[in-house]
Amino acid sequence: MFNALVLRQEQDKTLAKVEQIAETELPDGEVLVQVEYSTLNYKDGLAITGKGKIVRNFPMVPGIDFTGKVISSNDLRYQEGQQVVLTGWGVGENHWGGLAEKAQVKADWLVPLNEDLTPEQSMQIGTAGLTASLCVQALQQAGITPEQGEILVTGASGGVGSVAVKLLSTLGYQVVAVTGRAENTQWLTELGATRVISREEMLTPNRPLDKQLWAGAIDTVGSHVLAKVLSQVNYNGAVAACGLAGGFDLPTTVMPFILRGVKLLGVDSVSCPFEQRQQAWHLLATTLPKSYFSAACNTISLAQVPEYADKLIAGQITGRLLVDLQLS
Ligand code: NAP
Repeated sequence: MFNALVLRQEQDKTLAKVEQIAETELPDGEVLVQVEYSTLNYKDGLAITGKGKIVRNFPMVPGIDFTGKVISSNDLRYQEGQQVVLTGWGVGENHWGGLAEKAQVKADWLVPLNEDLTPEQSMQIGTAGLTASLCVQALQQAGITPEQGEILVTGASGGVGSVAVKLLSTLGYQVVAVTGRAENTQWLTELGATRVISREEMLTPNRPLDKQLWAGAIDTVGSHVLAKVLSQVNYNGAVAACGLAGGFDLPTTVMPFILRGVKLLGVDSVSCPFEQRQQAWHLLATTLPKSYFSAACNTISLAQVPEYADKLIAGQITGRLLVDLQLS
């Protein structure tokens, strides 16, 4: 038997509790993993609190990412004792996930842990880090270089936003962070932002084309904020869009695209191919200073997850949350 956070639904309410599970109850999969670390992402928060329609089949073990050691494998790519990482693929949404001491998953969903990262470091950045890295790569592939001007990062205090600020600034970009929390200004500056602007500033009514301010942007917020960003991006600039923390709509016009050649680059970490994931992990492992990882996040136990999921959805968490499955 092992510990797992289990979500059950009673009278339309999602209840989250640590329970003892037998290995035989795990869903089918080629690789059985002893989970060492998982994380709390925005999507986990929505699933655990029931505030978003993330989970449709109950009982469910949440946790969209984890790292751990292979216990057994029916797939030749993975051997007993190997350190692996999983992010996305609907794990923690429709297949039991990483907020448990053991997980059984498809071999296709795994990547070997990057050799320049420790297991703990991989989950100190987790899915948020991978997504930030995919966004940075999307901007680089669109030809956005540090010499072209400032890069805007929205939702900067969050998991994706904060890793994006650190990654871009370490790569030599000038980063402007957007936050709804003025109290995080110093923290964001220490992280690498050269300037911090308020969310309100990005929520003022925007014209189809505003003054050109940004060489590029990483947007984790969507809706009116993304519309404003698009209206302010320089000629031939690019925006990597990965999130919807402010809403899933996009009240914009075609003007930035057809008159300024602005590129809107969609970024998905859930189903992105193996090679691209490995490149994104490589960028993180070789760029982020080693001192960054533990400073970037707080560590919690499995039992503390429901309490922190509430805080995450209430927008009270700064940076990342590491879940250490070895903590009692
Ligand atoms: P997070 O840690 O909760 O951060 C979200 C941040 O957005 C918050 O810290 C806050 O930053 C800002 N924010 C919150 N509510 C807002 C609102 N109503 N209006 C404007 N800004 C708001 O979440 P995360 O894990 O970084 O994820 C960020 C977004 O990316 C989420 O929508 C998530 O679903 C998405 N995501 C997508 C992928 C993908 O594969 N495409 C992968 C991971 C995450 P400030 O306080 O600094 O403003």
